[in-house]
Amino acid sequence: MKKINIAIDGLSGCGKSSTAKAVAKILHYKFIDTGAMYRAVTLYFLQEQVNLTSDKEVTNALDEISIDFTFNKESQKNETILNKQNVENEIRKMYVSEKVSAVSAIKAVRVAMVAQQQEMGKDKGVVMDGRDIGSVVFPDAELKVFMTASTEVRAKRRQEELAAKGEQVSLDEIIENLESRDHQDSTRKESPLLKVADAIEIDTSNLRFDDQVQKVLDLADHRITEAKIL
Ligand code: C5P
Repeated sequence: MKKINIAIDGLSGCGKSSTAKAVAKILHYKFIDTGAMYRAVTLYFLQEQVNLTSDKEVTNALDEISIDFTFNKESQKNETILNKQNVENEIRKMYVSEKVSAVSAIKAVRVAMVAQQQEMGKDKGVVMDGRDIGSVVFPDAELKVFMTASTEVRAKRRQEELAAKGEQVSLDEIIENLESRDHQDSTRKESPLLKVADAIEIDTSNLRFDDQVQKVLDLADHRITEAKIL
């Protein structure tokens, strides 16, 4: 069966990763959460107190970073490994969310992450979610999806996710973080978040999770059939 690459971009917290993960599982594709990679870099920069305005410090720090994913059979989740340490829980915390957009706006950070992401998807069969997957990482991806949802819906979902992990955060604080990240991600110079012309938009505000997964699967089905014919 011919494999395709699926790029899922969109706003913060609209369910890109959980949708991408479910789609990948059903298609037996690899799932790559690129937001986790930028979060892992941010965690490292915070731990090492890297000065974001110093090119030298940023480049040196990037040389020390290795990011991998491991599949945890018990939780059925992909977990992020930073320099051999499982940082999956840590990178989701608010103090990382607050800094990640500043870190991911740095050109050297993007160059390093994009190179790794392109390597991961070079043999196709990847579902990758992020902000610049359809525009920069895989501009030739056979399927590009752009996901959105209202701020309130996104914030409530994020609040539930954090609460499930024991972090109680007010809705206002989450809304402020989501809006500030959307703004920073869409207005930055390097690979801003944007909907490319050939992406298909899915608004998940009023969709059940299974329905949003099915929508992407239906689109993928068409593209896989087309790829077989070509
Ligand atoms: O997807 P998630 O919300 O975890 O991403 C965290 C942050 O990482 C985003 O707000 C954005 O600043 C950055 N990011 C990015 N490019 C990607 C994926 C994420 O700049 N491809």
